[in-house]
Amino acid sequence: MSVLLTNIGELVTNDPEHGAGLGVVPRAAVVVEAGRIAWTGPATRAPAADVAVDLGGRCVLPGFVDSHSHTVFAGDRAAEFAARMTGEPYTGGGIATTVAATRAAGEETLRARGQALVREMLGQGTTTVEIKSGYGQDVATEARMLRIARELTPETTFLGAHTVPAEYADDRAGYVELVTGPMLAACAPHARWIDVFCEPAATTAFDEDEARTVLLAGMRAGLLARVHGNQLAPGPGVRLAVEVGAASVDHCTHLSDADVDALAGSWTEGAAGTVATLLPAVEFSTRSPYPDARRLLAAGVPVALATDCNPGSGYSSSMSFVVALAVREMRMSPAEAVWSATAGGAAALRRDDVGDLRVGARADLTVLDAPNHLYLAYRPGVPLVHEVWKDGAQV
Ligand SMILES: [Zn+2]
Repeated sequence: MSVLLTNIGELVTNDPEHGAGLGVVPRAAVVVEAGRIAWTGPATRAPAADVAVDLGGRCVLPGFVDSHSHTVFAGDRAAEFAARMTGEPYTGGGIATTVAATRAAGEETLRARGQALVREMLGQGTTTVEIKSGYGQDVATEARMLRIARELTPETTFLGAHTVPAEYADDRAGYVELVTGPMLAACAPHARWIDVFCEPAATTAFDEDEARTVLLAGMRAGLLARVHGNQLAPGPGVRLAVEVGAASVDHCTHLSDADVDALAGSWTEGAAGTVATLLPAVEFSTRSPYPDARRLLAAGVPVALATDCNPGSGYSSSMSFVVALAVREMRMSPAEAVWSATAGGAAALRRDDVGDLRVGARADLTVLDAPNHLYLAYRPGVPLVHEVWKDGAQV
């Protein structure tokens, strides 16, 4: 059965056939068939379909692709957030709090939280989400997190090397051996990606050599690489990501000229390079300086935007909020921000079937109660998502 979505005020396709950037078609229509985009263009030229749906002049864009989240966990760190915002001393354990709660939680508790967050994301227009492990930091809990994440999305990431857990504080090499040995063996069957928090400035994160060991072990096990890097201070994360051919390096808050050159250079030979994924909801929630998006864009580096939804450094699941932050705080244009939240996220996940509305792409669509995409940043905090379609069906 084919479905004609018509009377679209503005259609964002990210399809070069409809022009550069967002590939916007005004007064548009879309034909969906068998879960895929069959046709896009001006409504007056739309072909016939079995069913027609009038979208009342609303804006339609590709479903958001949230390429970085930590949405399977237990516990809550609201008190830590409040303390950070008010300058009160806080003696909580930070990520160790979440690790302890996640280890102690039953499988059903973890599954229910993950399902609820993914549902919350879908209701806000996110049709593709990546989910990481990293709050288990032991073999059984990491594998449990990834089994649950795999029920929720195909984009699952093994992040056993999130931090060094307290019991390995005096044996970092032993923890890297665990992560690259038995933990990897238990987790790789449930994961598509290998990730590491490469941040030598943080004592519980991983230095360049440790991070390289983790990434190469994951790649030998058949996983694709992505990296947490350069969040808290300048460091080797970005260049290591480019060195191993990672699809994305995430955070990119503290970059040297050499880092920017390495990212730009990764795209020069025609092959897919390393995307710079920016997570401004973390800088918002930790009251930290934002990444310099304009510097990356000026160098021609593809930029993705994602939520990093997690209980500690930023607990927003809203891609609309991230778009608004990118525009207001990082000086991205609304069009750049929407591209980065859709096509950019797809590039960061090396996916060519989501993030745009080219013919043949998955029919994952977000319909806004707004005439155009500018409203995402122009009306921050307002729930503008009218309806969401995934694989050609309204959800
Ligand atoms: Zn993260």
